[in-house]
Amino acid sequence: MKFYIETYGCQMNISDSELISSILSKDQFIHTTKLNEADVIIFNTCSVRKHAEDRVIGRIAQEISRKRYNPNLKIGVIGCMAQRLGEKLHNINGKIDFVVGVDQYKKIPELIHNSVEKDEFLSNTIVDHSEIYHELYPTHSGKYNAFVTIMRGCNNFCTYCIVPYTRGRERSRSIEDILREVENVGNIGFKDVTLLGQNVNSYNFNNKNFPELLEQINEIDSIKRIRFVTSHPKDLSDDLIKVMADSEKVCEHIHLPLQSGDNDVLKRMKRGYTIEHYLEIVKKLRENMPEIAITTDIIAGFPGETDNQFQKTYDVMKKIKYDYAFTFKYSPREGTKAADFTNQIQEDIRLKRLQKLIKLQESITLAKYQDQIGKTKEIYVEKISKKSDKEVAGKSRDFKITVFKGSKNLIGKFVKVKITDAVGWTLKGESIQEIGDRR
Ligand code: SF4
Repeated sequence: MKFYIETYGCQMNISDSELISSILSKDQFIHTTKLNEADVIIFNTCSVRKHAEDRVIGRIAQEISRKRYNPNLKIGVIGCMAQRLGEKLHNINGKIDFVVGVDQYKKIPELIHNSVEKDEFLSNTIVDHSEIYHELYPTHSGKYNAFVTIMRGCNNFCTYCIVPYTRGRERSRSIEDILREVENVGNIGFKDVTLLGQNVNSYNFNNKNFPELLEQINEIDSIKRIRFVTSHPKDLSDDLIKVMADSEKVCEHIHLPLQSGDNDVLKRMKRGYTIEHYLEIVKKLRENMPEIAITTDIIAGFPGETDNQFQKTYDVMKKIKYDYAFTFKYSPREGTKAADFTNQIQEDIRLKRLQKLIKLQESITLAKYQDQIGKTKEIYVEKISKKSDKEVAGKSRDFKITVFKGSKNLIGKFVKVKITDAVGWTLKGESIQEIGDRR
């Protein structure tokens, strides 16, 4: 049987889809990237915003029409929305064949076989707080950057976030299992790994913490670049900053969600840090790694956010000057604490605040990119540029897409590039030295 997976949401979901591909392939299923060839279509869903759920429900309805000329087609829903809604999804769309929660991915082959045999709706969303998918290695879909999950779940219960309810409590994978996976991806040619977790800074396995894990990954020969997401500011230690600065392969980039620039709002979000603490971390990061790029997530219009509190967020953004910020207007998620707060902000105000943040960040990002002109950067070439087949594109260590003249022979190689221009969110440059594949 051929399966097709459509993935929504964060990198964790992309990584889970790769894990599921591996589980299904071991059971003789064949992966296809063509919808019209598929016997099974799986939607790996996201619950983080209502809009994300509505979108996927619309997509499922579209694809279910395929059953008219392919009655044997099976359609399944997995991921956070599957975990959150479970069997209710069958009420939303009675043509869905199976629903599988985030801790039950090992059961997907069995569920598909049973669904074919019995021709009835099946669901398994049992929560298993110990499931870490030990010794199950994903089929990595990219060629250059591999996502490696180091932990699952979250214990933080930020009041706006659905993740702890859908993905369960935090648990870390064993260091040995992670190192094995990173070595494996290095051996098949990936040189850039991104370690994934809802809060990597609280990684802990048998008293080994995240900085210790990073140090060990830094020793793996075949891997040349290491990145990680997401870092929770409350758990970011001085040790981590030191290891980042001292480890040659750890890239000069950190994604550090701010969410709000006001202490009262942070408290009501249950973020566990103050703005003073956050600014102190940024200071230390920049002192230790002057070239570090810092990106963030920010929510505009959290319940009860006053004009003054919003202004503080705006001012902090101006002060920190992020390389990039993912800005969102607050969206209540049913089942979270903040959704029940009685002081919700009107939609038009949330939108206005969001637009203000977007505009500010656009000007900061533009200036940041302009600042790169004249610098020399190491680019890991990943592809031919979309705009010209005489140019290649890749990423710098500080996660900036850079385009320069070159042929496909450079793909997979590291090249020193002098930055000559910045066009929007893309740097342009000239190759000055090919470093090779750095093996
Ligand atoms: S740290 Fe907060 S925002 Fe991040 S996943 Fe956990 S609860 Fe959600």
